[in-house]
Amino acid sequence: MVSYSLPFEGAVSREELLRHLHVHSRLREAIPFVFKYYERDWGLCTTQELRDQLKDEAYRVVIRTSFEPGALKVGEIVIPGENDETFVLAAHLCHPAMVNDDLTGVVVGLDAARILLESLQRAPRRFTYRLLILPETIGSVAYLSHHESLIPKMRGGLFLEMLGNDSPHALQGSFQPESQADRCLRTALRGLDPNGYTSAYRTIIDNDERQFNAPGVRVPMLSLSRVEAPKSSGRPPYREYHSSLDTPAILTQARLEASRDLLLGLIEAWERNLYVVNNFKGEVFCSGYGIWIDYRANPEGHRRLFEIMERCDGERSVADIASELELPFQAVWEVVRLLRDKELVRLSRHPEPTAPLRG
Ligand SMILES: [Zn+2]
Repeated sequence: MVSYSLPFEGAVSREELLRHLHVHSRLREAIPFVFKYYERDWGLCTTQELRDQLKDEAYRVVIRTSFEPGALKVGEIVIPGENDETFVLAAHLCHPAMVNDDLTGVVVGLDAARILLESLQRAPRRFTYRLLILPETIGSVAYLSHHESLIPKMRGGLFLEMLGNDSPHALQGSFQPESQADRCLRTALRGLDPNGYTSAYRTIIDNDERQFNAPGVRVPMLSLSRVEAPKSSGRPPYREYHSSLDTPAILTQARLEASRDLLLGLIEAWERNLYVVNNFKGEVFCSGYGIWIDYRANPEGHRRLFEIMERCDGERSVADIASELELPFQAVWEVVRLLRDKELVRLSRHPEPTAPLRG
C-alpha cells in the first residue's frame, strides 16, 4: 500500500485501478516504496509482474486507513562533553520494511553512541554529541522548532544513512563548505578511507541535513552514506533503493562496522580540531629541537614539516592547514602533536592570531 494512503472502498474499472497502482520504475520484481503525505490520494503498490497479469475489467478495492492526531516520536541520546558546544548526529526511521534506507544509519549511530558513552570515563570529550533518530524531514523540522535554544550551540553535524550496501563511503559537504566541520571531516576522510569520495552539498543525496543547513538554522551538517555515485550520474543511490528488495540480504555486518569505525574516526578528528598557536617566532631551529627531517633522505617529509610549521600562526586550525595543503587531517595532526610535545605550539579552542597588529 502507498504510505499514508487515504481509505477507499469500492468497485473500480481496470483503468482506474492502474492509475492508483504503483510499480517500481527499474525493478520488475520489486514492490516500490511510495508515500503520499501531502498529495492526498489512495493507492496500492505491487510488482510489474503482478500488474501485467491484471486482465479483468473491474476490481474491488478495500483500503482501511484512518487519520487521527498522534505523537511525533524522536529518539535522542546525549553524550555529554566538557561544554555544551554540540555536534549533532542524525538518522531517519520512517521507511517501512526497508533496511539500508535507513535502519543502517540508525544502528551505526547507536553503536557509535554506545562506544562513546562507554569511553566517557577514560576519555572525556570536548564536545557534546547528540544523536537524533527522527521521521525524515518533518521530524527534523519539529525537533528544531521545539529546541531553538540548542541551535546556537550546534557547531556541526553529520547525517547517517545507507551504510550497509556494497559501495564506497560518500561524504557530502554542508551548505557552508568552508566551515570547520566541512574542512575537518573532508580532510579526515582522506586519512581514514582512501576509497571514500566527497562531493558538495545536495549533490549526493538529500535528507534531514537540509533542515539543519537551512536559512535561520545554518548548522553545517554533512552526510555520510554509501551512495554509489553523485546524483549527476543519473544512477540510483543503490540498486534496491526504495523497494521491497532493500532487505538484510544486501548488507554485511562488516560494512556496518567499517562505517561505525569511520564515524568514530571522524569524531576523533573533530575532537582534535583546535587552533594551532605558535610559541615560536620566525622559523623553528628544527635540529635544535630534534625534529629536523633530512631533505636528502626524505624530501617530501622535509617540505611537509615546513609547510605545516609556517601555518602554525594562531589563525588556522588543524583542519584549515590540512585543507590548504590538501593533506589528510591525521598527517597534519601527527606533526602538530610533535610540535606540541616539544612545546613549540599550543592548542586553543579559538583563533589567537600571533602576528603583531599593524596600525
Ligand atoms: Zn528514502
